[in-house]
Amino acid sequence: MSTHDVIVVGAGLAGLRAARLLGRRGLNVRVLDAADRPGGRMATDVVDGFRCDRGFQVLNTSYPALRAAANLPALDLRAFEPGAAVRGADGRLHRFANPARRPSQAFATAFDGLFGVRDKAKLVAWTARVLGAPPSRTARLIDRSAAHDLAAAGLDGPVVERFLRPFLSGVLGESALTTSAAFVRLVWRSFALGTVAVPAEGMGALPAQLAASLPDGVLELGQRVTTVRPGVVHTADGERTARAVLVAVDPVTAGTLLPGLDVAPMHALTTYYHVTDAPPAELPLLHLDATRGPVANTVVLTRAAPGYSPDHRALISSTVVGSPIPEPDVRRELARIYGRSAADWSYLHTAEVRAALPAFRPGNPVQREVALGDGLFVAGDHRDTPSTQGALVSGRRAAEAVLAHLGTLAEVR
Ligand SMILES: Cc1cc2nc3c(=O)[nH]c(=O)nc-3n(C[C@H](O)[C@H](O)[C@H](O)COP(=O)(O)OP(=O)(O)OC[C@H]3O[C@@H](n4cnc5c(N)ncnc54)[C@H](O)[C@@H]3O)c2cc1C
Repeated sequence: MSTHDVIVVGAGLAGLRAARLLGRRGLNVRVLDAADRPGGRMATDVVDGFRCDRGFQVLNTSYPALRAAANLPALDLRAFEPGAAVRGADGRLHRFANPARRPSQAFATAFDGLFGVRDKAKLVAWTARVLGAPPSRTARLIDRSAAHDLAAAGLDGPVVERFLRPFLSGVLGESALTTSAAFVRLVWRSFALGTVAVPAEGMGALPAQLAASLPDGVLELGQRVTTVRPGVVHTADGERTARAVLVAVDPVTAGTLLPGLDVAPMHALTTYYHVTDAPPAELPLLHLDATRGPVANTVVLTRAAPGYSPDHRALISSTVVGSPIPEPDVRRELARIYGRSAADWSYLHTAEVRAALPAFRPGNPVQREVALGDGLFVAGDHRDTPSTQGALVSGRRAAEAVLAHLGTLAEVR
């Protein structure tokens, strides 16, 4: 039996962030994770030399918690082109760019025919309202779904069906837009203000960097925690005690380790990886489908991050909301979206993530309680927003609560 100041259960972004902040205060911290590497849902697998993130995901440089926690230059971020290309039911590829980020595209975006000029004006007005409100006020807009919020702004019909729904479904993990308006507005704000990028070596580089900042011996891998109670955790190796226990596992496991905790159902995402000698797009631009086909988004990843490929071949990442569908169906959809035959592409890998993102329904506060009493704490994206930002913020909030409980100065940066 060993005693620590704090045991953190889970080395995802939330647990790693909390452990770093607590360790900086001189506390004796242990992080126990069941897996053989840190990072939880943020991971990169190498398949035949290609870097395949465990589901398509990106970093947004406007996330304040990301900037606070990570050394972004060291991640060698590779940016995507702002905006999106949308394959319309008319067969044309419509290019949308944020005019503030790509002024040269403003004219083409304004006169594109995917949806009408009035809708564009309403979208610009709604975006201006979202950007004009401080995030703290936006976070209180939890009384309505995104669908209701958009409709109240006069955004319905083609602008939603052909652009907003296709764009948001891959981000939210659901296409009915039942997600809380608060979260969707915060996401929209971050896309408008930030650069979307991946680390040159894959998304797993972020948790690897956070883990490397912990002193040797703090992180123990292959340690599955079976039960938790105030001051005590159990693993197959026996019992560990601590003055505080912070449970920073995924939402599903949090619900079993902490009975009575309100945890949301999870949305699934499935990402398909294909390889080709002839990339179907010149730019690292997200491609969407306006026809409600099964592929939510697709991108030639190596246009942004050539290091995802071991050689000259291009890696294409394509995501479906929900469970896997047959790969030939995906390939057929990709040929339509890119407007090129995909017949000679090589299928590489499927990343099926059944529990990708916790549902964030109207009524959920943007920040849920992290102190459960008796020296027991909880962190994870299910405590804040289902995002990198949310996971990192929850880790910081939980660390502050632990420090307050232990009588240490609570404010941490
Ligand atoms: C496919 C996909 C796409 C995404 N896209 C984006 C995106 O584009 N932008 C964005 O901001 N966010 C995105 N996200 C969300 C983001 O990745 C997550 O919100 C974040 O990684 C969650 O971190 P976490 O620390 O809360 O939980 P997790 O990453 O789930 O970490 C929990 C940790 O607990 C460990 N654990 C579980 N059970 C036990 C146990 N019994 N004992 C010990 N350890 C245990 C796990 O091994 C894991 O390491 C995406 C997520 C997925 C899956």
